[in-house]
Amino acid sequence: SFSSRSPKFCVVGGGPAGFYTAQHVLRARQDVEVDVYERLPVPFGLVRFGVAPDHPEVKNVINTFTQTAKHSRCNFYGNVNVGKDVSLGELRQAYHAVVLSYGAEDNRRMGVPGEDLAGVYSAKDFVGWYNGLPSCQELSPDLSGDTAVVLGQGNVALDVARILLSPVDILKKTDITQPALEALEKSQVRRVLIVGRRGPVQIACTIKELREMAKLPGTRPQMLASDFDGVAEALKDVPRPRKRLTELLLKTALEVPDEDEQERRRRASRVWAFRFFRSPVEVLAGPGTSRTAGIRLAVNRLEGSGERAHAVLTGEVEDVPCGLIISSIGYRSTLVDPSVPFDSRKAIVPNINGRVHQGLYCSGWLKTGPTGVIATTMNNSFDTAKSLTDDMASGAVDLSAAKAGSQSIAGLLEKRGVKPVTFSDWEKIDSVETSRGEATGKPREKLLTVQEMLQVAHQ
Ligand code: FAD
Repeated sequence: SFSSRSPKFCVVGGGPAGFYTAQHVLRARQDVEVDVYERLPVPFGLVRFGVAPDHPEVKNVINTFTQTAKHSRCNFYGNVNVGKDVSLGELRQAYHAVVLSYGAEDNRRMGVPGEDLAGVYSAKDFVGWYNGLPSCQELSPDLSGDTAVVLGQGNVALDVARILLSPVDILKKTDITQPALEALEKSQVRRVLIVGRRGPVQIACTIKELREMAKLPGTRPQMLASDFDGVAEALKDVPRPRKRLTELLLKTALEVPDEDEQERRRRASRVWAFRFFRSPVEVLAGPGTSRTAGIRLAVNRLEGSGERAHAVLTGEVEDVPCGLIISSIGYRSTLVDPSVPFDSRKAIVPNINGRVHQGLYCSGWLKTGPTGVIATTMNNSFDTAKSLTDDMASGAVDLSAAKAGSQSIAGLLEKRGVKPVTFSDWEKIDSVETSRGEATGKPREKLLTVQEMLQVAHQ
């Protein structure tokens, strides 16, 4: 039904960036057609596989993405891995423009000895495990130790700490996977230390996540008062959102709480704490084993002040016994095609307002690096969409030749034995998942393997 003369572009990646970019261009131009190519059989990227199961309200953006996917000038093709099933060159041939929005699927490494011992996981894999990412289902993390160390103090680190410590009664009403729920039910983890290289004024989480930790049922905070020396005095010089965050941190760490809160803390059986001014030096194995038994941390001091202060080693080290280490020091984008420029230090595709090359754009975490919430991703995707529509209007994107779009790509995929999952195929998966969830009082019970997803999609 699409016109053979209409401008055609595609986005690579069916996460927030892909859908927001598509949405904005569809709104801005009445003639344009867009195809969304997604590696997995299921859409929505980190909204499905990153956002914590106990944050269902965050996932409401799925409704907007669904509207975009069902737009008469939009098509979704899941189960298509760009760079493997179809090349970027082939997409560029088939479309007037291509927007890369495939996110950040790798993680930064700590770069310390012992990093690969059993019991050490990246937050990316751990989160993928409890959220049902097919490639992480074999992880079965060992939760038999009393203490877990989470390295990093951003929102992802706090998500991980919260999931490790949450009462299972809360989690079992979420869309957390059944295997994760069962493992957490048996978990022996009673104490989670959330370690950061700098101090309380530099912490990278937001106030919502901190508030959730402070109120987490069955847990109490256990901070070191000395970590907060000088923090109250530094408050007057910090910007407002940071000030409110730091005030909450001070209150949680140092203030004597009211009676109710004291009682709540007395009854708590699990403990969480921030450990500041510490960097990982080495993961320590137990005697005669290749299993994690602890972590050696370097003690830092700060040079400079405020958000820009940096950590300098003091030469002192400290060993912390623990059976589980989760490294949450950042995601990293990878390259899907050698023709695309890549800044490997920042792990982004260099761009100017989302422009990469003529006819090639980027948006989302691939464009900005792996920071910010969905609203940030939305704004930077709208900016890329504006660059694209401006370039279509100015002639910088050449629309003179007709392009075959998905028709030519469909032919290639068929030859290669790849069967895409359309949006209505996804709706079959969605309905199986939600009805399985209904049976157990959860919003959904996710399918956990690509094979099972494809079976349902193509039945
Ligand atoms: P992604 O969401 O990663 O989407 C990229 C998509 O591209 C994926 O679907 C991927 O499968 C696909 N892809 C990858 N490679 C290919 C390929 N070769 N071919 C085709 N497709 C490909 N934000 C909030 O606002 N609230 C939260 O509570 C929150 N929690 C978070 C928790 C975690 C653990 C993480 C990591 C992030 C969280 N965020 C949260 C941030 C939010 O998830 C991101 O801002 C947003 O998902 C980034 O969007 P994106 O489209 O750039 O990347």
